[in-house]
Amino acid sequence: MTPRILILGGTTEARLLATALHPQLEVVTSLAGRVRAPVPPPGRIRIGGFGGVEGLARHLVEERIDLVVDATHPFASGMTGNAAEAAERAGVALLVVRRPGFRPVDGDRWVWVESLAAAAAALPGLGERVFLTTGRTGLAAFAGSRLWFLVRSVDLPRPPVPDRMRVLLDRGPFTLEGERELLAEHRIDVLVTKDSGGAMTQPKLQAAREVGIPVVVQRRPPLPSGLTVVTTVPDAERWIRGNLPG
Ligand code: NAP
Repeated sequence: MTPRILILGGTTEARLLATALHPQLEVVTSLAGRVRAPVPPPGRIRIGGFGGVEGLARHLVEERIDLVVDATHPFASGMTGNAAEAAERAGVALLVVRRPGFRPVDGDRWVWVESLAAAAAALPGLGERVFLTTGRTGLAAFAGSRLWFLVRSVDLPRPPVPDRMRVLLDRGPFTLEGERELLAEHRIDVLVTKDSGGAMTQPKLQAAREVGIPVVVQRRPPLPSGLTVVTTVPDAERWIRGNLPG
């Protein structure tokens, strides 16, 4: 029987991995269903939560999943924790694909914070016009702020949101030229980002460096210990092909 792989997705890496494995392997990509029109990966797609650790463990057994790949976003820590526990309970091998985080270089003025609340608290000392690129969830942390926000997200944010804000609906990849223009057009004097990593969203960091504005960077949540982790899609593909059952 063709091995069946479950990819926990919602990232470019998940889509590229499904593309690399399909159709030689039976690939099912799972999406949380948060984005209204996700870019579809090849293979089968299932949408929506599993119902916690127990639900996912049951799903792995009932669907006869041979291998589960956690290719979720570095900040999707709930899903990552659930996947680690469920895979162990179900006795299914788990691989985590985690792209490297952003690294500051000479000229960067980065302020690391642990949470979006901490980012909101740090902002008043840093600037007045904020480019907020942390996604549409979590805007509540900035709701009481007197600062002005340019919020970029894939789908429209829902309240609570900052009082003074403009929303830019867009999805990466973003270009350096485009990011430079945004910073200039909106007179941005501080940028807020998660340490998502990846090339798609990196140009904003270079644009911020060029104009010398500070960047507030939210630290990643830690990964559970003891997991097998790779950082690239080719490494994930190699690991999967070398760890198939039979
Ligand atoms: P989360 O807080 O870690 O997950 C919350 C719950 O959502 C999970 O317990 C699970 O529900 C469900 N879920 C999450 N990812 C799922 C998936 N791939 N397939 C099925 N159910 C999933 O996750 P999040 O931060 O809200 O992210 C949701 C999705 O968006 C993820 O797939 C992630 O890769 C993607 N994403 C997140 C971010 C971010 O900044 N957090 C950015 C870009 C993309 P049950 O407990 O019911 O199984």
